[in-house]
Amino acid sequence: MRSGYVSIVGKPNVGKSTLLNVMLGEKLSIVTPKPQTTRNRITGILTTDEYQIIFLDTPGLLKPRYKLQEYMQEAVRGAVNDADVILYMIDVSRPPKERSERDILRMLRESNKVVILVMNKIDLVSKPMLLPMIASYKDKMDFAEIVPISALKNDGVDILIDVIVKYLPEGPQLYPGDQISDMPLRFFVAETIREKVFLLTKQEIPYASSVLIEEFKEREEGAATYIRATIYVERESQKGIIIGRGGNMLKKIGTEARREIEAFLGSPLYLDLWVKVKEGWRRNPRDLRELGYVP
Ligand code: GDP
Ligand code: MG
Repeated sequence: MRSGYVSIVGKPNVGKSTLLNVMLGEKLSIVTPKPQTTRNRITGILTTDEYQIIFLDTPGLLKPRYKLQEYMQEAVRGAVNDADVILYMIDVSRPPKERSERDILRMLRESNKVVILVMNKIDLVSKPMLLPMIASYKDKMDFAEIVPISALKNDGVDILIDVIVKYLPEGPQLYPGDQISDMPLRFFVAETIREKVFLLTKQEIPYASSVLIEEFKEREEGAATYIRATIYVERESQKGIIIGRGGNMLKKIGTEARREIEAFLGSPLYLDLWVKVKEGWRRNPRDLRELGYVP
């Protein structure tokens, strides 16, 4: 038996969360076209008779500009430290500029861990374009392996898993075989609501929003589950936008989230959704803690 921690790191929007979801065959990590969707380290546990891989999906690597982003980068560092194997993911359709990648490659080298380069989104480029890119990455760093994939099309993902398993340490299963994450249910519920905010609102609104589950009551046989949740924003004007004209936007967010959570729970849900202002929460350590972000 082999078992170990495999951290997925890379710049925002390269497809890290998409890869986690396709490997697990479940939507564990929310995915949107917007960068910086993922804010926490998210675990997905993949178990077979031969191995158990604990994947850690992480926020995108960037230069932090406010406290929440500092916490997000801290989550990446933690995932790198805890990893047996690191997957460094790039988007081949938008390869990173050399200067902006230098610090990342240095951090990966200094970790002294097995690093696999995952070249994602190959569905967007022609094969001949990949070869020079592979050659240039071989010069940049001594990657254990280089694996081209399309996470979206589930192309090359099985090969990637086989490659990962080769580098896992020998050891026993660390989690029960049927457990697919160590995050609580209420985390996934909050993330589903946050995803709808990301998808349905624009500009600064998604980044100024955070979702807190205030109450979660499982109801008896036949009745609906009751969840009370609050979307926190930073300013009164943002609250207006989330609520929308005649409450339309909030209704839309609530309906889409409820449908998805119901499918997940397999039971009807009464979702009681609120919007409140927490002035400047992204920069305030106490607010961040209250909203469930840990440094
Ligand atoms: P993350 O920020 O690295 O976690 O990236 P996400 O997984 O949230 O994906 C960002 C965007 O890239 C989403 O719109 C995904 O659908 C898209 N995406 C992810 N993987 C692929 C891929 O292999 N091919 C294409 N064409 N798009 C992808
Ligand atoms: Mg992500």
